[in-house]
Amino acid sequence: MSEYILQARGLSKGFRGFMAVQDVDLSVEKDSIHALIGPNGAGKTTCFNLLSKFLAPSSGSISFEGEDITSLSPAAVARRGMVRSFQISAVFGHMTALENVRIALARARGGNFDFWRGERVLTQYNDRAHELLYDVGLSDSVDVPAAELSYGRKRALEIATTLALDPRLMLLDEPTAGMTESDVARIVALIRQIRGGRTILMVEHNLSVVSGLSDRITVLARGRVLAEGDYESVSANEAVVTAYLGS
Ligand code: ADP
Repeated sequence: MSEYILQARGLSKGFRGFMAVQDVDLSVEKDSIHALIGPNGAGKTTCFNLLSKFLAPSSGSISFEGEDITSLSPAAVARRGMVRSFQISAVFGHMTALENVRIALARARGGNFDFWRGERVLTQYNDRAHELLYDVGLSDSVDVPAAELSYGRKRALEIATTLALDPRLMLLDEPTAGMTESDVARIVALIRQIRGGRTILMVEHNLSVVSGLSDRITVLARGRVLAEGDYESVSANEAVVTAYLGS
């Protein structure tokens, strides 16, 4: 029997009367990689913001591991194990890769800012930070300021800072957006590697990435769920093909 880690029921969001997301039901199976796709303006970003709690729904409900999280903040759901990885913004450019991951580890343990900035306190996270940087392929960049890393490497660092929170559900917002082909291949391999014991929900435009990674795909169009299934079934769905061609 399937076990769902995240479920949304009747999720809707209107902006001054315009329904960007309408009556969306979504069930994300535990330990799966689930992709949210759709043509431009389909409501993917709005839906993702609702699921990650960065936007409040006009109606509908969301549950994580069986508990209603509809009225919780992003920080509260992060503490429960559902963490969204941002595009770059989560990384401090002037700090080295190692420092960024140590700060994330200290934060995950609820450290007070003034307290955990102290070098003596942060040193205790060195070993774990090195492990995480190794896991994301950044062992050779530990002392490089984040601002000097290539775009693909910054995204890998951002994933390391997210992994520091030890999430059971990771929400990835266009993980390969704006990347070169070789960086895309690296991030795809990384996502495969980090999935062990974790569920991943991602919004992704690159359909070859979606087909290579996803166990299940939800296709949105005009704010509604148009189709759901594995890549083979949604890509053969006539309504999906028409929605993409019309975009
Ligand atoms: P996608 O990510 O699939 O491209 P979005 O969720 O960004 O789609 O947008 C869905 C629709 O909602 C679009 O028509 C967009 O213009 C509209 N929309 C999104 N955010 C807002 C907002 N804050 N105010 C008004 N309209 C919005």
